[in-house]
Amino acid sequence: MSLASTISDPGVTAGRRTKLREGLEDLDALLVTRAVNVRYLTGFTGSSASLLVTADADVLRTDGRYVEQAAEQSPDLEIAVDRGDEWLAKRLGPGVRLGVEDHDLPWARVRQLEAAVEGVVLEPAGARVERLRQIKDSGELSAIAQACRITAETLTRVLAAVQPGTTEREFAARVEAGFRDAGAQDRAFATIAAAGPNGARPHHEPTDRAIAAGDLVTVDCGALVHGYAADMTRTVAVGAPPAEQRLIAVHDAVRAAQTAGIEAIVPGATAGDVDAAARSVLADAGLKDAIAHPTGHGLGLEVHEQPILRSGGVATLQPGMAVTVEPGAYLPGIGGVRVEDTVAVTEVGATVLTVATSELPFR
Ligand code: ZN
Ligand code: ZN
Repeated sequence: MSLASTISDPGVTAGRRTKLREGLEDLDALLVTRAVNVRYLTGFTGSSASLLVTADADVLRTDGRYVEQAAEQSPDLEIAVDRGDEWLAKRLGPGVRLGVEDHDLPWARVRQLEAAVEGVVLEPAGARVERLRQIKDSGELSAIAQACRITAETLTRVLAAVQPGTTEREFAARVEAGFRDAGAQDRAFATIAAAGPNGARPHHEPTDRAIAAGDLVTVDCGALVHGYAADMTRTVAVGAPPAEQRLIAVHDAVRAAQTAGIEAIVPGATAGDVDAAARSVLADAGLKDAIAHPTGHGLGLEVHEQPILRSGGVATLQPGMAVTVEPGAYLPGIGGVRVEDTVAVTEVGATVLTVATSELPFR
């Protein structure tokens, strides 16, 4: 089977819906309205999509633009074509307890649904599909691994060629062109390239600032393969050793923190354990106040998914999860360092999927 078919084959997506149905005892039906969740459960990638899951039938709704695509991508499903809620009114009656994705549904939409289906009882169903999505199957892991391979190879190649004078924007464009040349579907998110003092901003948008000799440059990027993301960051010195000497020690500390975070990943460890392992290394290096974000996050169809590896996080790590480990230290006005890898959680620990050195070479 091709990679594409192991990810969204009707047999695979039907299995996911079965798992979802098993957890529905408290409801008569579930209405899935997040497009990414519909995609996970049906293989349908159109932007107009919702899915009704009941005890004995699943119905995929889309609009006229996507009828053909829906039939092709989800041949096993009944397809309703509707821009409104009549399809629901037809299938649900008074007293039906209908779970909705309350974490994503605007209040106005809740009121619309209540008005559309007479007597329906809407229940907040929470992030059930997102919880299922935390554990990847083998097809999903293959897609993530391929995205990670492309990302690591591309970033290594682009970093090796970077020279003073290159702008942040050019740098980001080279990375993204490299992804496409290597066969990726797209970039998973807009590449971050932050040179010199801009590195102090974790989510800096690339500018026309030319990289100067002695700048530290942080590049955060990820390829997309069959809808699945990779996420990786390296910080390197360009042209000369860092002009800000202090950043050499910061880079060492961030790398050590990342190693500690990855080593803390074992099935049964909590998200908070991993965060604490990385955070304590930074704190010991005097960088407690330079930390600006959690240590990592799950990823898959979205770049940021559960579990978030944050301070006090109670989520338990399990085999089949894919998460990032990305400690960083940010010194306003001076610069910053982040080192990020995507790893797969296995029965015995973590396997790094974005394999590339994180040393601080001078380019
Ligand atoms: Zn990242
Ligand atoms: Zn990340």
